[in-house]
Amino acid sequence: MPLYILNKDGRPGMTRRQCTGEYKVKPIKKKVRGLLGYPYPARVPKGVFVEQWIGISTDEFHRAKDADVQYMRNVHPLIEMNWSRSDCVDYLSSLGLADTPKSSCLGCPFHGNAQWRHIRDNSPTEWEDVVEFDAAIRKGNARANATGNVLLGEAFLHRSRVPLDQAPIDHVTAAERAALGEEAAAELEQGVVNGCSPWTCRSEVEAVQADFGLTA
Ligand code: SF4
Repeated sequence: MPLYILNKDGRPGMTRRQCTGEYKVKPIKKKVRGLLGYPYPARVPKGVFVEQWIGISTDEFHRAKDADVQYMRNVHPLIEMNWSRSDCVDYLSSLGLADTPKSSCLGCPFHGNAQWRHIRDNSPTEWEDVVEFDAAIRKGNARANATGNVLLGEAFLHRSRVPLDQAPIDHVTAAERAALGEEAAAELEQGVVNGCSPWTCRSEVEAVQADFGLTA
């Protein structure tokens, strides 16, 4: 996953993203091949494929893409039904599910303060987990470190680059608001607008940099 970095010289930065490709796309492709009966490295015959239904709404039309392998075909039912994000919210509300959160990993660095607070205040065990995870990544990726690609600095889950259990998640500070401007400060509070799925990852670097006013 992309992480907020504090370089040794004090400059802020971000690591490269790996989360979706490594932990979602690869396992899904492996599973699909298995279900089709052609585990890697077997060649999947032409015309043999699965259909994947992906919940991208019309507001996110630009995120709807074809699969990059022949044995998977992407279908976007919400777009076919012409449903926007608010149509989905209305539908969920009609079922009593108005509080359905955006899909994302528990420890996603693109949570806003509100999402971090929600975990802290409602799920103590999950909060313990993410705080522990945040501490564990301080020196970067263990596998990368073992192969000599040592992180020159420290990694954090919160964009303040402060350990999560001490990070300023209760409100956007005046200093943050002044540095970021109103729009980015609102996103710091609410998080990246989009949810995350294997096929619509919220960590697309450009989007996130724009969202949070960051430089890589
Ligand atoms: S929610 Fe998406 S961007 Fe965030 S950690 Fe998970 S895969 Fe990565």
